[in-house]
Amino acid sequence: MAVGRGRGREAEAVVDAHQVAYLQALGVDVYVPRSAPALVVMEPAATAAAPQPVVVAAAHAPRPAATPARQPQPESQRPASPEPQLALPDIARDLDWEPLRAAVAACTRCELHGTRTQTVFGVGNQRARWMFIGEAPGADEDRQGEPFVGRAGQLLTSMIRALGLQREDVFIANVLKCRPPGNRDPRPAEAASCRTYLERQVALVNPTLVVAVGRIAAQNLLATETPIAKLRGKVHAFGARSWPLVITYHPAYLLRSPSEKRKAWHDLLHARQLFDRLQRESVAGGPA
Ligand code: SF4
Repeated sequence: MAVGRGRGREAEAVVDAHQVAYLQALGVDVYVPRSAPALVVMEPAATAAAPQPVVVAAAHAPRPAATPARQPQPESQRPASPEPQLALPDIARDLDWEPLRAAVAACTRCELHGTRTQTVFGVGNQRARWMFIGEAPGADEDRQGEPFVGRAGQLLTSMIRALGLQREDVFIANVLKCRPPGNRDPRPAEAASCRTYLERQVALVNPTLVVAVGRIAAQNLLATETPIAKLRGKVHAFGARSWPLVITYHPAYLLRSPSEKRKAWHDLLHARQLFDRLQRESVAGGPA
């Protein structure tokens, strides 16, 4: 990726030094200005008409003292896709974390229970401000019981760190809690059966921002067949409380298609800017 100072038509992102390794893991080259304390990453003008400094700020955004009521989104943030209208079955609606985990572990709601080694519930900070949702467990995840392990998991961790976060700061889950045999795509009936658990997880975490990781996750969460290229760069909404949702590529896809890492970096910048704005609005009592 072309990186450097003095390109006025390009957007800038000022990042902390500790993030450089993770940006490089994403395929984003970083030049270090000798006189500046921060590092400057220049992004092409494809998504920015004018220079827009984007400060990738504190590693941990402040959490409001009390969880605020979710405010109506400004017009620019309104969902670009229809909200799926799936009822939340009683099975998980009122469960707290441990009963929910137990319900998932014992679940036989779809045929995937017959081929799983174990369920993959999700992992992370149960009060996280960021939530990442992927597609389904793969072979490594099925074996270890944790989402996003292996090479794809390492790249997701790098993406999270590029946001100024640690993996432990966020909550990570999948649309499906059981591995589809042969890593095939989830079937609609399976995703519908498992959605109750995911919706309950999101409700319990109550994140500021949800990031859907990959086409399958995005299309399932939004109940759409729109290509991921048309879903990226927008703010969608998910679930009963219309949690803001953005889309990026799955790290497994980025490993197969390294040239797309550049787009993933744009997605992360978009997510970070949106998150910071949502936090400011939350602290101020809602969007202006
Ligand atoms: S994928 Fe979800 S709905 Fe299907 S058996 Fe596993 S936990 Fe139950």
